Amino acid sequence: VILKILGCNGAIPAYGRFPTCQVIELAAEFIMIDCGEGAQMQLQKYDVRSSRIKHVCISHMHGDHYFGLIGWLTTQALLGREKPVYIYAPAALKNVINIQLDYALPYEVFYTDLIEGQTQILFENDKLEIFAFPVDHSLPTHGFRISEKFKKRVLLPEKISAYQIPKYFLSALAEGKDYESMDGRTVANELVTSNGKPSIIYSYSADTAYCESIIPFIENSNVLYHEATYLSDDLEKATKRKHSTATQAATIAKMAEVKQLIVGHYSSKYEDVTVVHEEAKSIFENCDFALEGKVWEVR
Ligand SMILES: [Zn+2]
Repeated sequence: VILKILGCNGAIPAYGRFPTCQVIELAAEFIMIDCGEGAQMQLQKYDVRSSRIKHVCISHMHGDHYFGLIGWLTTQALLGREKPVYIYAPAALKNVINIQLDYALPYEVFYTDLIEGQTQILFENDKLEIFAFPVDHSLPTHGFRISEKFKKRVLLPEKISAYQIPKYFLSALAEGKDYESMDGRTVANELVTSNGKPSIIYSYSADTAYCESIIPFIENSNVLYHEATYLSDDLEKATKRKHSTATQAATIAKMAEVKQLIVGHYSSKYEDVTVVHEEAKSIFENCDFALEGKVWEVR
């Protein structure tokens, strides 16, 4: 799982930092999370083949999270894209896009509406799942969890002996195969195994106030990207604007027992964002900070 940051600033671009945009590569699927203004230029600058992006997750309807989308979609048309794009976003987004286009794109765009206050599985195949969960911001907003699915099934020894499955077949069971006995009896794999845990989880908080209710959704993530718009000395402002401080982001990371925290979505008042990093790190040691062009291997 590869994570690349294309934009990590808050609402206003500042000091060369762009509004939010990031790309995840997982099991040959490319997922763009938020698409702030300038995203297509950033994708070019940091060598992301845009034609490979199939899924676009838009967390909420603040412009710094989607103003780059119309430009990106249009350029994709000019470059001859034929493959569809799947957009997961608040229902209002499709009107915003359609009103800006007076012609049809030469490829299909499929919209899935994020439903206020609800969790949703947005996409699923045998390798990965994209999941949305509500967060606490000044308008309906969702965070996203992208998880690689278990590679092996978990064997259930009691069921296996009850169904009299021979030992030699156990590794095939772990790979999801059904058992067929010599006398033609078939035992479905699901009867004797269960889902394993996802091996890799990446979670993205989107814009949110301090919100403990997200913890069950992001628990044990390998990497959590959590917004840290302000330092603690601006706690009052953060609370009022429904954003988090670095301390709050780190507290959530700690409570959710994630392996690594990445902070981002900085206020434009900070020229040097290492102050945000330092504050978060003092509470949650395995913490890194986002900057344009930075890449992580999530593991
Ligand atoms: Zn916002």
